[in-house]
Amino acid sequence: MPGFEIFGDEEKQEVLQVLESGVLFRYGFEGQRGQQWKVRQFEQAFARYTGADHAQAVTSGTAALKVALAALGVGAGDEVITQGFTFVATWEAILDCGAVPVFTEIDHTLNMDPADLEKKISPKTRAIIPVHMMGAAARIEEIVAVANRHGIPVIEDTAQAAGARLHGRHLGTFGAVGTFSFDSVKTMTTGEGGMCITNDEALWQRMDQYHDHGHDHLPNPGGRGGEGRPFIGFNYRMMEIQGAIGLAQLAKLDGMVAAQQQNKKVLREAASAIAGVQFREMADPAGDSATFLTFMLPDKAKADTVAAVLGDAGAPAIRWSENNWHYYPRWEHLLEGKTPCHDGWPFVVQGKRRYIYDPQALPNTVAILERALTYQIPVQLAQEQQTTICSAFAQAARAL
Ligand SMILES: *Cc1c(COP(=O)(O)O)cnc(C)c1O
Repeated sequence: MPGFEIFGDEEKQEVLQVLESGVLFRYGFEGQRGQQWKVRQFEQAFARYTGADHAQAVTSGTAALKVALAALGVGAGDEVITQGFTFVATWEAILDCGAVPVFTEIDHTLNMDPADLEKKISPKTRAIIPVHMMGAAARIEEIVAVANRHGIPVIEDTAQAAGARLHGRHLGTFGAVGTFSFDSVKTMTTGEGGMCITNDEALWQRMDQYHDHGHDHLPNPGGRGGEGRPFIGFNYRMMEIQGAIGLAQLAKLDGMVAAQQQNKKVLREAASAIAGVQFREMADPAGDSATFLTFMLPDKAKADTVAAVLGDAGAPAIRWSENNWHYYPRWEHLLEGKTPCHDGWPFVVQGKRRYIYDPQALPNTVAILERALTYQIPVQLAQEQQTTICSAFAQAARAL
C-alpha cells in the first residue's frame, strides 16, 4: 500500500526547494516565491494524471469529503448514502455537514451493493458516496446509473485507490467528484493531505472557495485581503511542503502499483491452494491498484481455522470483521450517538434523536467479512516475507 516505503531523494529535493524559498503558503508571496507554486503544480499534475479537468488540494481525505459535500450543498435534513465497510472518515464528513449517514450492504466486490443502494434511496437522499475499498473499483458504473436515475450526485471516496482504474479510466472520474487521501499509510502520501477531482467547473470553483474561507481568488487591487467571498467557508488549505512531496510521490505512483500487482500475483497464486477460497470479485483485475489481497472461505468456522493456522505460521491475516475503524457493527460511537456536543448534535436535533442505527442492520456485510481474510501487499516484498506467507498458505491448505 504505502508510499512511505519508497520515500527517497526525490521527495527530499522537492521539500528543499520549498525550504530554500521560505514560502510555505500556497497563495501570495509573489515576490519571494518566484515561479514556485508547489500545491498548484501538484493539483495540475494530479488532474492530468487522472484525466480530470480540475483538482483541488486539501488537508486530508476527510477534508476532501467534507469540501465535496459542502460544495454540493449537503446540509441539515439531508441523507447521504455510503457503505457499512469503509473508514469512519466517510460518515464523519457526512455528520460534519449536519446530514445523516445511511448505510448500504457490500457485495463480493467488498464495495457498495448497487441493489441495496436502490432500496436505501429516499426523498431526503442528497448524495451517494461509494468507496473504492482496498484499492479496487466498486460497481461504479451501475452505482452512477442508479444515482442518475434519481438525479443524485455521486462522490467517489477514492482514498484507498489512487492509481486504480476501471477499464483504463481512473477511479474518481466516474461521479461528480472523486476524493483522495494522502495520509501516512495511503498508496501515495504527503504525510497528511487530500484531493478532490471533478470535470464540473462550477463545482470545482465552489470547492476552491469553500476550502479557503470563501475567498473567490479573483485578481483585484487589494490582493488577498481584497478578495470577495460568495459564501462562508473553512480552512482546509494544503501547504507547499505537502504539495512538493505530492509531486515526487505522484511520479512514483504507477511504479508502486506495478510492483504491488507483481507481488500480489505471487501471493494470490499461493492462496489459491487453500480449498474453497473465493477471491474478491473485481470487474477489472488489470486496473486493481493491488494494495490488498482478500479471499473468503466457505464459512466463518473455516475462516477461523485458516486464520489460526496462518497466525501460528507467522503470517497473520487482517480480519475486517474484528476491526474497530472500518466495520459498521463495531462503530459503537456512531451506533450509540456519542458526541462531544452538549446537546447531542449531530445525532440529536432539538432534543430528538434523528436516526436509530441498528447494529444488525447489515447482515450481508457481516456474512461476507466474517469469512474474509486479508493481506496488505507491500511495494517491496522481501523474499523472506514472501516465503513465510506462501508457506503459511501451504500449511493452511493442508489443515483444511
Ligand atoms: C484514509 C481514508 C479516508 C480519510 O483520509 P485522511 O487523509 O486520513 O483524512 C477516507 N476514506 C477512506 C476510505 C480512507 O481509507
